Order: sequence, then C-alpha cells, then structure tokens
Amino acid sequence: MSNGVVIVGGGEAGGQAAISLRQGGYDAPVTIIGDEPYVPYERPALSKQFLAGEMDMERMYLRAPDFYDQKNISLRLGERVTAIMPGQGVTTHSGDIAAEAIVLATGGRVRTLPVDGADLPGVHYLRSFDDVLAFRDRLAAKTKIAIVGGGYIGLEVAAVATKLGCAVTVLEMEERVLNRVVAPEVSAFYTRIHTEEGVEIRTGTTVTGFTGSDRLTGVACSDGTTREVDLAIVGIGIVPNVDLAEAAGLDVDNGIVVDALTRTSHPGVYAAGDCTNHPNDLLGRRLRLESVQNALSQGKTAANAILGNATPYAEVPWFWSDQYDVKLQMVGINDPGDDVVIRGDDKTRSFSVCYLRGGVLVAINAINRPKDFLQAKKAIAAGLKPDVAKLADSDVALKEL
Ligand code: FAD
Repeated sequence: MSNGVVIVGGGEAGGQAAISLRQGGYDAPVTIIGDEPYVPYERPALSKQFLAGEMDMERMYLRAPDFYDQKNISLRLGERVTAIMPGQGVTTHSGDIAAEAIVLATGGRVRTLPVDGADLPGVHYLRSFDDVLAFRDRLAAKTKIAIVGGGYIGLEVAAVATKLGCAVTVLEMEERVLNRVVAPEVSAFYTRIHTEEGVEIRTGTTVTGFTGSDRLTGVACSDGTTREVDLAIVGIGIVPNVDLAEAAGLDVDNGIVVDALTRTSHPGVYAAGDCTNHPNDLLGRRLRLESVQNALSQGKTAANAILGNATPYAEVPWFWSDQYDVKLQMVGINDPGDDVVIRGDDKTRSFSVCYLRGGVLVAINAINRPKDFLQAKKAIAAGLKPDVAKLADSDVALKEL
C-alpha cells in the first residue's frame, strides 16, 4: 500500500488539495499537518466580517470539522513540519511521517517592522484567527489606532475600526495608498472614501519606532512627530514560507518554483498557494499570488497531478476587497505602464478602471460594478482588444465589446 500524501500547511491550498484528492478517488492515506490549532479556514473575513464581530469562526471553515474524519483525511493540527525528505516523508517534532508525495502549502508569514518598540504589547499583525483574537476586543469607541501600511488589509481594518468608533490613522510610506497594485485613480478614490468616513490617511510617512514603557503609547514617524495611540496594526505584506523547500534543495525564487502542474524541482514534491512562484500561460509570465482563487486552484491542480490527471493551471487571477459599502473586484494583473480607461464617474462609488496593454484589456478594477467584473473575466481570458470609446461608456456592457 502507498504511503500516501502528506500536505504541509493546513490553509486554503492545503485543505483544498486534500479535498480534491478524495474527490478524485485517491484512496491511500492523506495527512494534513498544520501548525495552527484550527481546521483549514478561509482568511478573507479576518480583516472584514470576523474582525467586525459579524461572522463566527465556523462559517470560515473550508469544511466542517467532521468532514475530515468522514473522508479519512488525517488532520494533525498544532504540529509543525521541521524538515522534508523528498521521496520519503516529513519530520515533525513528534517524529517522522512517511509519504510518497508531499504537497508544500506553507503560505506566508507577516513581514515584521524592524523598528524599536515593535515587540511592545499593543503592536499587532494580522494573518490568523489568533492574531485577530489578540486585539479584536480593543476595537471600541475612542480607541486610538495607527494602521501601518495602506494596502488592502490595512484599509479593510481601517474601515472596520472606524465603524466601531475608533479614531483611525493610516500611515503609508508611499505617496499613495494601494500604490503597488492599482492606478492612481483607485488610490484617490479610497483616500476620499476613508477620509469621508473620518479616517486620517497620511501618505509619504514612514514609521520609525513605537514608544511606551510596558505597553504601546505612541508611534514615531519620519516627519519627527510621535502620535499618541493605544493600538497599532501593522499590515506591510507577507514573506512566503520557503524555508523547508530551501533546506531540501528545491528551486526557490520569490516562492517555491513550480511548473503549471504545481510540480517543484524535485519529483514527488508539489507546492500550492501563496508560497509558490508559478507560470501562467494566459498571462505569459511567472508570478507569486496571494489570493483565495490561486490557493484553491493550485490545491486542486496539485491533487490532479498526484492523481495523474494532469491539468495545467492557467486562470486569470481575481481578488476582492470590501470596505464600507464598497466592493472592489479585481481581475487580471496590471503593470505601472498600462493605459487606463475609466468606465463611469470616479467621483461616485460605482465605476471601473480598465487597464490596457498594447490595446489589449489585461485587468480591471470594478468598484461596485459586479457585471463588469464577471464580463471582464471572460474578456481578459479571450484577449479582447476593445474599442476604447465604447469601453469608456459605462452604458455599453463589456460583453457587447
Ligand atoms: P495560508 O493560508 O498562509 O496557509 C498556510 C498554512 O501553513 C498556515 O496555517 C501556516 O501556519 C501553515 N504552515 C506553514 N509552515 C508550516 C510548517 N512548517 N508546518 C506546519 N504548518 C505550516 N484573498 C482574496 O482572494 N480575497 C480577500 O479578500 C483576501 N483577504 C485577506 C485578508 C487577510 C486578513 C489575509 C491574511 C489574507 C487575505 N487574502 C485574501 C489572501 C488569502 O487568504 C491567501 O491568499 C490564502 O489564505 C493563501 O492560502 P495558502 O493555503 O496558500 O496559505
């Protein structure tokens, strides 16, 4: 009998790989080893409904806890894999586990801020249930919060905290929020709606340290000021967990290098989710993505590859962000040099920003325009070269182009 598959990491990619293995009829042992004490769960609500106290943990589980028993998937939670031995198995602090195939679904860990005072109580990060539970109770009226980093997670936390009555300041070192990921028009929109809701957005501001004796009382900034705060939430990105892969001699380059079937440079070792650097033929490039769509699809791809049903992974990436009454849905990958066409009026709360490269639609940010998002998915996959005047006309449906 085969030693089966060991999945390292019980997040969305790892959980999905196990689910897809069983759905595909895999009948050898399947083990998920995850260092968090929870069954695989979806993280997006951590900075949205769960943070706001509007969603229970159970609703974020990928599958109910008894699913794993029913499907004969062994869950080893609160256990950390310390080494992988390709072709043989893995090692944890409680011993060796044999496996024919290994799936690395190790995700990423938060990037920490290397400044004085960063270890003071009151300075928090946000990646897991435990991270949120450590500070959620403190989001109450009059709490003064500094959010370090004006990316999606920082802005989502700002939206929740301000709704709960906190006094919120976002400190962003770049000249605009969401600088790396969207056009200036979208950054300006988010600065406007947050300001309207009472959030202070300070761009071009670097945090140089946290102050306080036994707990956080202030955030020191590059302009020489120190802001008085009760709480700081740092959201400055993640670092992919590639240490196990590196130690085992697998190719690593901003993520574990895999092919379109999620195979690493070592036979029998696969990788899926936030930890991978993977090719995408539809986009004609390699990339590392941090999104649910990518984690779930690569988890499925890894399972299919193990089952011998090779189906290369090539999807147009998509992602979303919820802030206040605004749902942003993004599809495709835009670059700084892309031409930008606005559909609708960016002074309202419903418009889309379209990105064109060489006349081809490559990405869209749809703000409260779900139809644009759905239709753009197909248009981008098909390589649509739209008529720009029609594209700019929000009364013309994308599917008519
Ligand atoms: P992870 O979810 O990071 O899971 C990896 C797991 O492996 C972790 O539990 C980790 O602790 C464990 N692990 C690592 N090393 C070991 C080891 N050696 N031994 C055992 N276990 C190990 N995406 C969207 O598309 N839309 C959103 O709106 C959105 N919002 C988000 C909001 C927040 C607050 C966060 C944190 C993420 C959000 N994302 C969103 C991103 C999305 O959740 C991630 O892309 C996805 O969770 C990645 O899944 P993964 O399984 O690759 O990695």
